[in-house]
Amino acid sequence: MDKMALEQIVSEAQSKIDEFANKKLALDITRGKPSQQQLDLSMPILDILSADDLRAYQPDVRNYGGIDGLEEMKALFRDMTGASSQESVLIGGNSSLNLMHDTISTYLRYGAGEARPPWGKQQAKFICPVPGYDRHFAVCEHLGVEMIAVGMDENGPDMDAVEALVSSDNSIKGMWCVPKYSNPTGITYSDDVVRRLATMQTAADGFRIFWDNAYCVHHLGDEHEQLADIFEACRAAGHPQRVVMFASTSKITFAGSGVSAILSSPENVAWLVKHFGFQTIGPDKVNQLRHIRFFERYGVEEHMKRHAELLQPRFSKMLERLESGLGNTGLAKWTNPKGGYFISLDVLPGCAKEVVAKCAELGLKLTPAGSAFPYGRDEKDSNIRIAPSFPSLDDVALAADVLVAVVQQVCGEKLLSQQ
Ligand code: PLP
Repeated sequence: MDKMALEQIVSEAQSKIDEFANKKLALDITRGKPSQQQLDLSMPILDILSADDLRAYQPDVRNYGGIDGLEEMKALFRDMTGASSQESVLIGGNSSLNLMHDTISTYLRYGAGEARPPWGKQQAKFICPVPGYDRHFAVCEHLGVEMIAVGMDENGPDMDAVEALVSSDNSIKGMWCVPKYSNPTGITYSDDVVRRLATMQTAADGFRIFWDNAYCVHHLGDEHEQLADIFEACRAAGHPQRVVMFASTSKITFAGSGVSAILSSPENVAWLVKHFGFQTIGPDKVNQLRHIRFFERYGVEEHMKRHAELLQPRFSKMLERLESGLGNTGLAKWTNPKGGYFISLDVLPGCAKEVVAKCAELGLKLTPAGSAFPYGRDEKDSNIRIAPSFPSLDDVALAADVLVAVVQQVCGEKLLSQQ
C-alpha cells in the first residue's frame, strides 16, 4: 500500500475515532460467553424432568453416590467427542476447567498413576501452544507449573519444536491442547499433528496430553472439521495412557450449570476417581439426568445448529468489517474459524497493547493484549483475541467498527513512521 493511501486511511480513522469518543460506548468482546438468546435455547431443560421420572430413575439420582456419573451421561460424552467404549468416562460438576485443575493438582501431589512419582518432586513443566486459552495458563501459573510456549500454525502446534522439547527434558510432564476449533485461533489439528503427538518419544515417564475438547460439536456452519482419534493413535503407538480428554456442555446448555467430563484410559480414570473421591461423595446427578432427557428430546446436533444460527451471523459481521477495513492493508491478519467461539487477530508487531488501550478509552473492552500467552507475554505484542458471541449483532458491528478504526490508526501510524 502506498504512503498516500495509508495517510488517507489513518486520517479517516482518526475522524471516526473522534466520533466514537463522543458516543460514550460500553461494548465488551472479551470473553467467549454464550448470548442470552443462546442460553434461552436450553430453557426447556428446567421443565424436562418430572417428579415421577426423577423418582423412578435408577440409581436414585437424588441421593449420594455415583462418583463417576450416570451411564447415559457417559454415553452422551462418548458420542459428542467420538471416544470409543475402550475409554472410561468420569462425569464431573459444572466445569471442565475445574477437572483440569484438579487433575494437575493430583498429578503434582500423587503422580500420574499408580507407582509413578509425583510430578511435584521436581520443577514440573508444561508445553503451551500459543496463542492459547488464558485460563489453562493461569492454572499452571497458580499451581507452580513452568510453562514453555510453542508456536502454532493452521495445522496445530509446531511439532518439530514439541518433539525436540519433550524428548530431551524429563521435567516436561505434559502439554495443553485445544485440538478442535482451538481457542483462540479456531484451527483443528491435522491428522499428521495428531499422529506425531501420539507417537513422539517423551523423556518423562507418564507424560500426559491434556486434550481439551471444549469445542467438539461447536460448528459455525455446514462445514464440520474432522479431528483424528487421538486415543486410537496413542493405543496404536503403544502409549495408551498418554491422553486425558476434557469436555463439557458449558457452551451447549447453560455455561454456568452444565456437566463436565474426563475421558481417558480405564487406568487413568480409575486413578482420578480414587483421588477425586476425597473431594466429593458424588457429582450433581439430577443435573445429569436433566441433560440426558434434554438431549433425548432435542438431540445434540440439532441443538448445536440452533446455536450456530445465532453465532454465525455475529462471526460473519465481525469478519466482514475486518475485511473491508483492514483487508490488503498489511496492518493486520486474522483467522476465519469454522467453529468455536473466537477470532484471533494479529496486528502489526508492537501495536497490540496500544490498540487494546485505545479501544478501552473509547468504551470497547478487549481481552488484555498478551493474555493468550503464558505469563501474559506476547513477545511480538501482536495478538488480540476477539469473542463476538455475547453482544447483539448491532453491537458486534459497532465493536468491529471501533476496533478497525483503532487498528487503522495505531498500526497505520506505526507503518508510516517506519517508511
Ligand atoms: N476450555 C476451553 C478451551 C475454553 O475456551 C473454555 C471456556 O471458554 C473452557 C475450557 C471452560 O470450560 P468449562 O466451562 O467446562 O469449565
